[in-house]
Amino acid sequence: MFNVERIREDFPILSREVNKRQLAYLDNGATTQKPRAVLDSVNQMSTLWNANIHRGVHYLSQQSTEMYEGARETVRSFLNAASTREIVFTAGATASINAVAYSFGERYISAGDEVLITEMEHHANIVPWQLMCQRKGAILKYIPFDDNGELRLDLLDSLITERTKIVSVVQVSNSLGTINPVKEIVAKVHAKGIPVLVDGSQAVPHMPVDVQDIGCDFYVFSGHKLYAPTGIGILYGKETLLEELPPYQGGGDMIAHVRLDGTTTWAELPLKFEAGTTNYIGAVGLGAAIRYMEEIGLNSIQAYEQELLAYANQRFATISSLNIYGKAPHKAAIISFLLGGIHQLDTGMVLDKLGIAVRTGTHCTEPVMTHFGIEGTVRASFAMYNTKEEVDRLYEAILVVQQMFGGAY
Ligand code: PLP
Repeated sequence: MFNVERIREDFPILSREVNKRQLAYLDNGATTQKPRAVLDSVNQMSTLWNANIHRGVHYLSQQSTEMYEGARETVRSFLNAASTREIVFTAGATASINAVAYSFGERYISAGDEVLITEMEHHANIVPWQLMCQRKGAILKYIPFDDNGELRLDLLDSLITERTKIVSVVQVSNSLGTINPVKEIVAKVHAKGIPVLVDGSQAVPHMPVDVQDIGCDFYVFSGHKLYAPTGIGILYGKETLLEELPPYQGGGDMIAHVRLDGTTTWAELPLKFEAGTTNYIGAVGLGAAIRYMEEIGLNSIQAYEQELLAYANQRFATISSLNIYGKAPHKAAIISFLLGGIHQLDTGMVLDKLGIAVRTGTHCTEPVMTHFGIEGTVRASFAMYNTKEEVDRLYEAILVVQQMFGGAY
């Protein structure tokens, strides 16, 4: 049985006060809080097991390497990847996408080629492609979305041409909450022989993910959005593709042999893409976070968060001045909204005074805001430890904001 009160006890920060109120943390899309299992694992790794990985014959180095590689296996199983050779540790989703955009661009993109992404991408899945396209003289194209926040997949066929070399799409929009049908998109794009990257940053904390079922060629996410530490993330890539791509960065661990005449050779996968000392402590923390989530059960987490979303939608529907941006029928528990003409920052600041942490601004999706002709929104993004009482507090706080600013606009 999913027991939210029991889960909350695992997260020390949730019992603290902010502005003399009990914290209601509703900014999980930006980053999640960490359970004791993760905090302890990182602490133990630093106090008892710390030594650089893949480098020493001594005991601690071997133990640390074993724990790092154990975490890789945990991630492999979490994503149902075929092999740990397909799981690359990076600094986060942004680093993963930059790696693919750079390496794929170097190997496969020439002047006049096209890359197709969507207008609802996080900046991290736009700008690396823009940089690569500028470098290569390639063209970046975008799949638009409608006013509900659903991708215009009816345009997919016409947007793909014989010059399209890769498609990159977000699984769950961080500002709209839309869950995109990535399996269907991958099937359609694959039918034209084109690989697909899926940005799963906002998907993995909320639902079970199976990269072999989705069929994508690359899948990326950040650890800190799924209860793990910052500075650690994942690049999943199909082995055949990762084999063909050139390394992204050079340095220790990604090398087989260094020759001064330039005939340097690369390490086997996945180390070819792990230059330098990686965040091995964060990787072990990520493993602990995944095990923690798996113990609760991804299906249970998803069902509970959907219940929370339905409850929030039902409560917010009674506030007539509240406009929600992102009304797709398939949504994760993310609600972006504005209250009549009240500025998002005013709303965010009052909520903060009431102990409620939400995100304000563009959420790194400026083109989404441009679509709706707004500067930004207030975003409440829920996690497995949020409660209906917190939704009620948000509801009551919104009424306070309305009273304070309603007349001023
Ligand atoms: N993609 C999506 C959908 C996101 O929501 C985020 C962060 O908000 C990112 C990518 C970038 O993640 P990070 O800053 O951890 O690299």
